[in-house]
Parts: sequence; C-alpha cells; structure tokens
Amino acid sequence: METMQEWVESLERRARTRLGSGRVANYIPALAQRRADRFGIAICTNDGNIYHAGEAQEPFSIQSIAKTLLLTLALRVHGDALWTRVGRNPSGMPFNSLTQLEVEGGKPRNPFINAGAIAVTDRLVSAFATPSKHLRDVARRLSANPTIHIDERVQASEWQHRARNAAMAYLMQAFGHLDNDVDAVLQAYFSCCALSMSCVDLARTFNFLAAGGYARSLGEQFIAPDLSRRINSLLFTCGMYDAAGDFAYRAGLPAKSGVGGGIIAIVPGCFSVCTWSPALDERGNSVAAQYVLELLADDMGQGTGIPR
Ligand code: GLN
Repeated sequence: METMQEWVESLERRARTRLGSGRVANYIPALAQRRADRFGIAICTNDGNIYHAGEAQEPFSIQSIAKTLLLTLALRVHGDALWTRVGRNPSGMPFNSLTQLEVEGGKPRNPFINAGAIAVTDRLVSAFATPSKHLRDVARRLSANPTIHIDERVQASEWQHRARNAAMAYLMQAFGHLDNDVDAVLQAYFSCCALSMSCVDLARTFNFLAAGGYARSLGEQFIAPDLSRRINSLLFTCGMYDAAGDFAYRAGLPAKSGVGGGIIAIVPGCFSVCTWSPALDERGNSVAAQYVLELLADDMGQGTGIPR
C-alpha cells in the first residue's frame, strides 16, 4: 500500500460493496430515519494525524460507543471499587438482555451491555452534578471539537421507549445495586448515548486507548497505561456483545459498537479507527463497519505493515 490516505480510501471503496445488507435500527424511532447507504472511516494515528474517507465528518448518534467513555470516567473516579457493581466477563447474550441480571443478583456481567452501562452511569450520577454534560465536555476536549452536542430528539425518543432499560434499572435497584433515582440515572445514560459525533471526532476521542492512556489532544496522560490496556481487554472480550467472539475471529481488535452504526476499534501502539454505516446485523452491529475493520486487519496481516 502506498500512503496511509490511499489505504483508507481503498478500504472505503471495498467496504461500500457491503452497503446493501443489514437494517437501520428502528427500536429507537429517531434513529430509523438514517439513510442506510452512508459510510465513513477515520483513522487517528498516535502521532496525531487523521486520515479519512467517505462521510467521515458527518455526525451520527454514538449510542453504545458512549459506554467506553462512561467506563473510563467511572474508573477514573472510583478506581477498582467500580468492580463491586459490574463484572468483567462476556455475557454471550444480546446487549439489552435481562436474563442474567435476575439470576446473578443484580450485578451486570460487564460494562458494555446496557445493564452494565446503566450501573456505571449510576456511579457517575453519584460523582458529578451533571454527568452527561461532564461526559460531553470530555468528548469535546478529547476530540478537539467544541461543537459536539447531545441530540435532544434522539434522547427524547430513547426516553419515550425506555421500558426495557427501565426494567433493568428497577431490577438493579431492587437488588440494592443502584444508589440514585432510576429516572435520573436513565436520563443521564440516554443523554450520553444521544451524543452526536463523526468518525473523525470519535477516532480522535479514543486515540488515548491506542496510545497507552496518553491523550495527545489534551497534552496529558488521561488514564494510566495499565488502565488503558485493561479497557482494551474488556473491549476485546465484551465490546461487540454476543458477537464478541465472532468479531475477534474476524478482526482481532478491541472494539465497541453502537446501534447508530458506528464502531470504534483500537490498534494498540498505532492508531484508533472509527467506522460508520447505519445498517445493522441481527446482533445490533453495523454490517459494513465490521466488514471494513476485517479488511483493515487483513491488510495489516499481509506482511506489508501499516503504510506511512
Ligand atoms: N441507547 C441504546 C439502548 O440503550 C444503546 C444500545 C446500543 O447501542 N447497543 O438501547
């Protein structure tokens, strides 16, 4: 491969062949209006360069990608005490499943399924007066984009259709696993999922996970190197829900998907990458965004390495 930019463009060209399959999420009605033929990819290298192709600057609903930032902030505040509230093992179940929560005493399997992210959000509601604004401000600083905002239409749509997430939150409350008011926790969780960001914004935001916790946009060590490594481990084992094993087999990268169609993935020591296309498979992961990460991993494994 010639240059990094040519590589990203060639990935985009090849991934567009998958745009016909999958379905745009409609259980949150505000997401259903997205055109299925959108596709974007952005790479942020550890030396701070951005390479992108397709609709990489178009903002979309980050949805469950927010869970990665929720976890990072909660670990920064609460440290290992967080693990008394949420586990670290793959669930093998859909992202919105309630089954294990009931039989496992109200402690969610991991921070990336909905129940786990709601438990993590509860810890942030205890720590910050306005947790979603705090998270939005962190995303603005990490991405160096002060225009990032919470899409109130998406947030309202999630609130209106909250029955399943509310059921999880009440179940955790019944087990004594939530410290705060259920509505306050759900509102904070939905606001964070409703952040609107582009592939370029997200690749920049999560570069600290590729750079041993160092955030170039802040000019500081955002989290300790060992914490960065551990978050990547959780992304690898749990970030794609019940498809985590399949995705590990296909691409072998720590990654987090969202039902808005975005996926962030990390190549530790090298770069962060965000890919986006709204049409999802039956597990709620973007078809084309997964495919392009598989192509990317495949190219990198050909022995030619990463282009300069
Ligand atoms: N906000 C969404 C929900 O709670 C997030 C789900 C997702 O992206 N997988 O259902």
